[in-house]
Amino acid sequence: HVSRPADVVEARILLPIVTEEQPIMEAVLLNPVVIICGETGSGKTTQVPQFLFEAGFGSPGSDNPGIIGITQPRRVAAMSMAARVAHEMSLSSSRVSYQIRYDATVSPSTSIKFMTDGVLLRELATDFLLTKYSVIIIDEAHERSMNTDILIGVLSRVLKLREDMWKAGTADVKPLRLIIMSATLRVSDFAENRTLFPTPPPVINVAARQHPVTIHFNRRTFSDYVTEAVKKTIKIHTRLPPGGILIFLTGQNEITGVCRKLEAKFGVKALERKRQQRQLAEDAADEHENTALGGDIRPAQADVEAEDLELGNQQVDDLAFDVDVDMVDEDPEALDSDEDTEEHQLDKELVFLELANILTELCAAPMHIVPLYSLLPSEKQMLVFKPPPPGCRLVVVSTNVAETSLTIPGIRYVVDCGRAKERRYDIANGVQAFQVSWTSKASAAQRAGRAGRTGPGHCYRLYSSALFEHHFDEFSKPEILRMPIEGVVLQMKSMHIDAVVNFPFPTPPDRATLHKAEKVLGHLGALGVTTSVAKGLTAEGVPSIDGQITELGRLMSLFPLSPPGQQQGCLPYIISIVSALSVGDPFLHDEGLVAEHEEEAVDGLEDADRTRRKAFFTTQHTHSALGNFTSDVFRILSVVGAYEFAGGGHKFCAQHFVRPKAMEEIHKLRAQISNIVQTNFPSADAGFVPRILPPTDMQLKVLRQLLAAGFIDQVAVRKDRVEQTSSAGVKYTTSKGVPYKALGVSEDVFIHPSSLLANTAPPEYVVFSELIRTTRVWIKGVTVINPA
Ligand code: ADP
Ligand code: MG
Repeated sequence: HVSRPADVVEARILLPIVTEEQPIMEAVLLNPVVIICGETGSGKTTQVPQFLFEAGFGSPGSDNPGIIGITQPRRVAAMSMAARVAHEMSLSSSRVSYQIRYDATVSPSTSIKFMTDGVLLRELATDFLLTKYSVIIIDEAHERSMNTDILIGVLSRVLKLREDMWKAGTADVKPLRLIIMSATLRVSDFAENRTLFPTPPPVINVAARQHPVTIHFNRRTFSDYVTEAVKKTIKIHTRLPPGGILIFLTGQNEITGVCRKLEAKFGVKALERKRQQRQLAEDAADEHENTALGGDIRPAQADVEAEDLELGNQQVDDLAFDVDVDMVDEDPEALDSDEDTEEHQLDKELVFLELANILTELCAAPMHIVPLYSLLPSEKQMLVFKPPPPGCRLVVVSTNVAETSLTIPGIRYVVDCGRAKERRYDIANGVQAFQVSWTSKASAAQRAGRAGRTGPGHCYRLYSSALFEHHFDEFSKPEILRMPIEGVVLQMKSMHIDAVVNFPFPTPPDRATLHKAEKVLGHLGALGVTTSVAKGLTAEGVPSIDGQITELGRLMSLFPLSPPGQQQGCLPYIISIVSALSVGDPFLHDEGLVAEHEEEAVDGLEDADRTRRKAFFTTQHTHSALGNFTSDVFRILSVVGAYEFAGGGHKFCAQHFVRPKAMEEIHKLRAQISNIVQTNFPSADAGFVPRILPPTDMQLKVLRQLLAAGFIDQVAVRKDRVEQTSSAGVKYTTSKGVPYKALGVSEDVFIHPSSLLANTAPPEYVVFSELIRTTRVWIKGVTVINPA
């Protein structure tokens, strides 16, 4: 029996799931797998473990003595939910515990254990039967993270094994139960997938208790959503009735930046100071106006979650669509009604408005501002659940952890930037990276719903309704389908799942592509290859891949991207190359030259133009010299190195004709990847050193091999080498107009004019990092495989 604090007893009665205890427990006892759908805040995460506990699960001596395990996609949720459930049940943190990668409160007496899904996947590697557990709850299954999908697939098999062993009377083995919980009703991939669960599991729907939320779209979509979020929050705060504000942003830097800005304007201290010395305080506040974009980079301390990775601002620009200038406002009644006038204010009116704003700000209540993101210390995380000090308005600035994982009480207004950080796969450069992208309509609905927990609310979307209608996906795609298939295979292999092709995925990727991915990974040396006849050659006499992950493969699986391994001290260069390819070519190529640098053009434009062109070609020549004019990739490596030695800066960028933003991004990405490698492989000695000496000839040789291996399926051969056409035997002076044949491309391809190889004699074999189709099919980022 459980004794609960009085306030908890009171709050529990109001949770919709509590009335479903009986049917839930019946279903769990009668079925190996049960699916529970319930609106965020209905009590799934905090109550279902308690139902199980009270039915005897997790208690020694009962029918189901094994631990109750609950997985969460995020560390914040694992830690705070464990603390909450312990509190609700008046049990210690050693009974109701959490485990995340480098931190845990578990003990031999643990009954309920919250963990990240990564932790459970690692446990499966050492104890495939999960003998410690009597029941596993997979929470937030609607997010369809790769880990969740893989876990559900693996667990479907573990259940079967445990049941078979139990039926066969194997000593001490009891069946394992699985509960899948989702905040949406969209569970057919689990419920109706016969490969996964031959008997369809019952689905229990928990009634929603949701107040209406009014949605307000912005008339336009601005790329600087961080500033927009601050503006909107200030408007809500100064003009609308009391009630908490929840702001959705994408990552830690944005969040701390916005917190600082709001704190400077409406923090308790700031307001006091302001009231005392109005003028002085305002100047000070203005100094804080610059949002902290960019900022410092944190080492990857534990499991890396997308939101932890701080990106620069570049991809944000890519999101700015200009499709909706003519849109009519959806909701004339609310805040946005004055936006139009505000945008077209005359100067005089502006001054007046400013004054009015200053006055409203001075009269406003203070804000109680609380950040929420994955790497926030746990005491700070808990602050979101505390009521704000009397007279203050609660303002929570959060990543999408507040979308469905944590229900924050007292929220009446939601400000939604419409974006989230995601792992994305860039088809163009073959690199996997973390990006800020639009969320789905389903996510937007969840975010809006957070405003309607305690009463009717309002959701302000910092994007237009046209953008929402035309550019938002209905639902976010399962992560497994967004990932490069090689990455999925590699991840699974690193979890010791060898039979990837037959794996029971909730949403299976195409089998043929899985096969191909295994092959590519074999070629890259990430998977073991057996040459012995005993293990068998394939029909074509090719050594077959034995499917086991190699050390190199394990190293590769740690990167958010897919570079080859460490050889000859090449790791820093590989990291630089991978970073640069992921960001994109930083060079301002000839055609963009004048336009991009217009503001710098001096008098006598034509002369200046000529001088600039000359300067451009001189620096191109300098950087192309690395690797002796054979690789666009080395040319970029050269400029990256030079940039660091010059200490960065706009002046360097202007002199070397590179985009400052791109250079800054590459710098940051290098630091991030170095830290990830350093954390996971201290022996690799990959600590981030910005300044690296140019690679030696030996190193260049290794790098060239690695590039060839890494782009094994992006090889092009000069056409006359493969086809005896009339052009055979022709002597070329440059590569211009010289056709190549690329693997898997039916048309001829040509070396892009931006490549340094466009102006040299045409090499026979090259690898490329990018393929684009315009009037022709062009290859970019070209490297000669076998230079003379
Ligand atoms: P679900 O998992 O269905 O989204 P939860 O079990 O997370 O719902 O939340 C149930 C209720 O418990 C919510 O009203 C939430 O605000 C409350 N709650 C959760 N954690 C805490 C906490 N640490 N302090 C106070 N209330 C909490
Ligand atoms: Mg939950």
